[in-house]
Amino acid sequence: MDFHLDTLLNFPNVTVEQCIQEAGEIFLTLRLLNDAADCPHCGKTTEKLHQSRPVLLRDLSIFGQATHLKVPRRQFYCRSYQRYFTESLPYVDKGRQYTFRYKEYIYQQV
Ligand SMILES: [Zn+2]
Repeated sequence: MDFHLDTLLNFPNVTVEQCIQEAGEIFLTLRLLNDAADCPHCGKTTEKLHQSRPVLLRDLSIFGQATHLKVPRRQFYCRSYQRYFTESLPYVDKGRQYTFRYKEYIYQQV
């Protein structure tokens, strides 16, 4: 959507599709640009997307406004391993509701 937002966000293979400001908070809807993921079991790349559901991640505030990212969490299927796996994203721990840099920021406050 916006080149400058993508640059500021600074995540690989991601573009900001929508930016909503609501009740003093910011919600960015992200779109992933890669069509494939590497299987964590055998390392092979697969494009076989099984399902995708959005999760809301807390990220660093923008201009003092709490910021949330709506990120698609995608499950792929690996033919060699015959299993589903969740795509790993370099900016969030599996199952967490916040980004790495948000966690770091919180730790620095303590
Ligand atoms: Zn595999």
